[in-house]
Order: sequence, then C-alpha cells, then structure tokens
Amino acid sequence: MVVVGLTGGIGSGKTTLLKCFESFGVPIYIADKEAKALMNRSKVIQRKLIDIFGDLAYINDELNRPYLASKIFADQSLLAKMNAVVHPKVASHFKSWLKKQEAPYVIKEAAIIFENKLENQYDFIITVVADEDLRIQRVINRDQSSKEKVKSIMKNQLSDEEKIKKSDYVIKNNNLEEAKKQAHKIHKEILLRINA
Ligand code: ATP
Repeated sequence: MVVVGLTGGIGSGKTTLLKCFESFGVPIYIADKEAKALMNRSKVIQRKLIDIFGDLAYINDELNRPYLASKIFADQSLLAKMNAVVHPKVASHFKSWLKKQEAPYVIKEAAIIFENKLENQYDFIITVVADEDLRIQRVINRDQSSKEKVKSIMKNQLSDEEKIKKSDYVIKNNNLEEAKKQAHKIHKEILLRINA
C-alpha cells in the first residue's frame, strides 16, 4: 500500500485539504486524532499515563487534558515520556488500519514529519503552505488564539522553504479554490505514478 504523508505548518490548511482528498475517495488517517482517541480508549495507555502523571491524569476514564498540558508546560521532559507511551500504539493502530484499506493509496496527516525525521515512512510527501499572515489570522479566527501564541508555535516548526525542498508535492493554500485544483492534479499524478 502506498502511503502519502500530508504535512504543513500551523494553520496552513492540512485538515481542509485532507477533506478534499477524502472527497476523491482517498482513505485518510489523522495521527493526532487517533492518538487522542487511543488515550481515552486504551487501558494500557491509561495505566502508563497515570504512572507518569499521577491519578489526576484521568477523570472518570476521560483524559484530563488541561492537567496534562499544565504538567508538560512545567516540565518538558514529560512530553517525551508521554510520546514514548502513545506513539508506538498509534503506529500499530495505523498498521492494522492500513491492512484494511483497499484504495490505491492512503494519506496520513502528520504535522511533524520532517522535524522528527520521519520522511522515510512515506512513499510521497505533500506539504501545504500559505502566506504567514494568512495562517496567523486563520488560527486566531479558528481558536481565538493570540498572534504571539501562533508565532511562538511557528518558530518551533521548520520553515516552509525547508519543507518545500524535502517534499514531492506542494499545495499553495492562499486561495481555497486554487488549492483544491492543485490537490486534484496531485491526486491524478500520484495515481499515474503508482500505475493505479
Ligand atoms: P493546524 O496545524 O492548526 O491543525 P491545519 O493546517 O490543519 O491547522 P486547517 O484547520 O485546515 O489548518 O485551517 C485553519 C483554518 O483556516 C480553519 O478554520 C480553516 O477553515 C481555514 N482555512 C483553511 N484554508 C483556507 C482558505 N484557503 N481560505 C480561508 N480559510 C481557510
């Protein structure tokens, strides 16, 4: 099965473009969403996270997100510990999900591919880019976030220029209609490349 990675900086439009590929019939997997679901569903993860964060990590079997966020904010090393518990579970969940797919290729959305040097897990990589001022405004509108907060997240991500160099395909999402056209072209090109 051909696995295409879809990435891009905060507010670039990954989720928006992913829905577009879904409308072409491409199965999509959102690693972040599955991680969150597994943290609530898996008793093994629950036990391990309680070992790391204490009993307050869950309230009535629901992950206590604000508590975890405040603990991680105070001690960054907890993030790596949490990832060491959650990431392998998401990886095996993805593997079994993949086995069930029958389409010529699938798309996996992951905000961080290049930053974690995970590019060899993908056959092709699509990066979504958009002008920085547009991205900032979109995130402010979506999350009622502040400009400073969005900028500080951007600072920790690889620049669009670096990502473009490492990508097979780039979608420029300053304008949604234009971006959708690019997505359709890329979809057809991938099908051709894999002889589907
Ligand atoms: P994040 O990295 O924060 O998860 P993302 O890359 O998945 O973000 P989206 O959530 O798809 O980005 O888009 C961010 C916001 O901008 C959303 O509210 C979305 O509806 C809006 N948006 C995306 N693309 C466009 C566009 N071309 N024109 C206007 N608004 C857009």
